[in-house]
Amino acid sequence: MNPRKRRQRPVTVFDGRTHHVALCRGFRDTLPVFGWGEAPSTLLTRAQLREAGLRPNGHGPLALLVFRHHKPMARETVAELFSVELAAPQRGTIIQRYAKVEQALRARRVCVECRRDVGYYVPTSTRTCWDCEGIEAFGEGVAA
Ligand SMILES: [Zn+2]
Repeated sequence: MNPRKRRQRPVTVFDGRTHHVALCRGFRDTLPVFGWGEAPSTLLTRAQLREAGLRPNGHGPLALLVFRHHKPMARETVAELFSVELAAPQRGTIIQRYAKVEQALRARRVCVECRRDVGYYVPTSTRTCWDCEGIEAFGEGVAA
């Protein structure tokens, strides 16, 4: 089909910062459909976001990119387009994430009195280990 005869209609896409006015091919599942090279520049596919070190950050797609390859009888490819403005930096790798959990758990095992990692979770009420707790109790016993 002659690309010049494609039906196009104006659509406004809000990417979180700018209202883009662009020509789209129509709508699919209430999302505007853009052809190859026609989408606003601040809308990227999931793969493009990942390449830029970003993630969709829980936001759904704002538009769809629909195109066919030049191969004959090729099926059309549909890619969801996400906003760069709403995207957030990628969280670390799974190993880095485990390291952060490990760090948080270590903080729960450290006594605020003697600053040691006592190997068990210190009570949240006092944040002190049993040794420091025992000395306090003993001290009170002597004072009484
Ligand atoms: Zn202690």
